[in-house]
Amino acid sequence: SPEQQFELPDEAATRALGARLAKAIAPGLTIYLVGDLGAGKTTLVRGLLEALGHKGAVKSPTYTLIEPYTVSNLNLYHFDLYRFTDPEEFIDAGLEEYFAEQSVCLVEWPDKGQPFLPAADCEVQLTDQGTGRIARLHGSSLKGRELMERIGS
Ligand code: ADP
Ligand code: MG
Repeated sequence: SPEQQFELPDEAATRALGARLAKAIAPGLTIYLVGDLGAGKTTLVRGLLEALGHKGAVKSPTYTLIEPYTVSNLNLYHFDLYRFTDPEEFIDAGLEEYFAEQSVCLVEWPDKGQPFLPAADCEVQLTDQGTGRIARLHGSSLKGRELMERIGS
């Protein structure tokens, strides 16, 4: 299904969903990570990168805008656009060039880069539910829907 929902009672569950995404991921995907501060967007990326075999730290790109990784034969770029005061900064910072055919791009605060940010193949929305979180995944392109199929339910 192009829509899937996961209950994430604790941080370990968010990381596990990241690991599940890692198993399904392929080159050429742009994934938006949507949710408030502290929703678990960076935690999800941490779980994803660790499952791909990344050994070092996974820093939040809040101040650097982008953290690049080469892992498991993927060129993966983790963005955080939170600090943008104007979406033109996306162009000024030259971030467009990262969205190449073979890249995997994971973007926190995608709204801050619109309308310049390339379209998502998949959106992950994280919201609070009690002390935990709920993740809603939505495939928004053919590639994104194929990703959703591979993730399973
Ligand atoms: P964001 O990048 O969305 O601002 P972070 O991943 O940096 O959020 O921080 C999320 C915080 O919430 C961390 O303290 C993390 O341990 C915690 N957290 C992550 N997932 C869950 C969850 N499913 N339930 C409870 N706490 C979580
Ligand atoms: Mg973050």
